[in-house]
Amino acid sequence: MELINNIDIAAQAIGAGKLVAFPTETVYGLGADALNPLAVAKIFELKERPSFDPLIVHIADLQQLEKLVSVIDERVYRLAAQYWPGPLTMVLPKSNRVPDIVTSGLPTVGIRMPNHKIALELIQKSGCPIAAPSANKFGRISPTTSAHVKKQLPRVDFILEGGKTTVGIESTIIKLTGTGFQVLRNGIITQEELEKILPFDGNSILEEQSAPGMMKSHYSPGKKFLIAQGAVLKIEKSKAGLISFSGNLEKGCRKVIRVSEREDLKDYAVNMFEALHAFEDDPDIDIILAEPVPETGIGKAIMDRLRKAEFNWRHSLNHVGP
Ligand code: AMP
Ligand code: MG
Repeated sequence: MELINNIDIAAQAIGAGKLVAFPTETVYGLGADALNPLAVAKIFELKERPSFDPLIVHIADLQQLEKLVSVIDERVYRLAAQYWPGPLTMVLPKSNRVPDIVTSGLPTVGIRMPNHKIALELIQKSGCPIAAPSANKFGRISPTTSAHVKKQLPRVDFILEGGKTTVGIESTIIKLTGTGFQVLRNGIITQEELEKILPFDGNSILEEQSAPGMMKSHYSPGKKFLIAQGAVLKIEKSKAGLISFSGNLEKGCRKVIRVSEREDLKDYAVNMFEALHAFEDDPDIDIILAEPVPETGIGKAIMDRLRKAEFNWRHSLNHVGP
């Protein structure tokens, strides 16, 4: 593993079929040439990601989009004009240029244009679209700094340094339907915001398999993690690290990370994975708690992630009482 600042070296590596972890505005991605199936296979191997979980392809301009999809409807351009570059992924019918390994055999491909100078320059200089999931082991906490990547993927060829990411959670993923759009994954671009451009399609059933990689457990820390609500509030907090939002739950906790000084949900999104990493690495902390937030707007994206992070630890809930 080599930590680098030089985008030319990173682009050459992508061209040579190697893996480069790089910053985007959401989280760090683990990138490979999206049109090179052997390079893409290395992503699945290094992340230990199951082959049924499709990757998002990152582009730097709309010409690349046109080569990757079989039909573009006018709505895609409308959304792109408003949100690209930015944290919105659109799932679209794929062209036969896109290798099956990228889409896990699906007839659709997830595409986004990241709003990040280094990411865009890397894609441009590589001369190819870049397939990239988050640069963490499958199911674990997403990385928002190069140190988080190094911790989980020490065998990656290169990590391109880009400081801490500014959005902090993964992109919103949508799919277009006959009458509007459906949300496959919540992010900081909310359903309410998108509804200003396109109607939300609440009528068609979201098929079970429409976003195959959406697991009940994800973002999972390597030590006990629970959302601080209900019975959890009664536990002995003296060895707990609390991810705090309002400040109301802090009393008695061993350590506290306040994710926002001004109680802004955007700050929660920006800082939540970093706080999880910090407590995961802290030997003084036995249990990590996170303050829940109301499930509206960005709160939806935050609570989705907290619930998935908690999933594998929920069984321990019965044993947390006094
Ligand atoms: P990430 O792991 O952040 O790269 O996100 C990838 C997720 O995007 C996958 O787990 C899927 O849920 C979703 N996704 C990517 N491509 C597609 C697709 N073609 N159809 C539906 N969902 C997709
Ligand atoms: Mg991920």
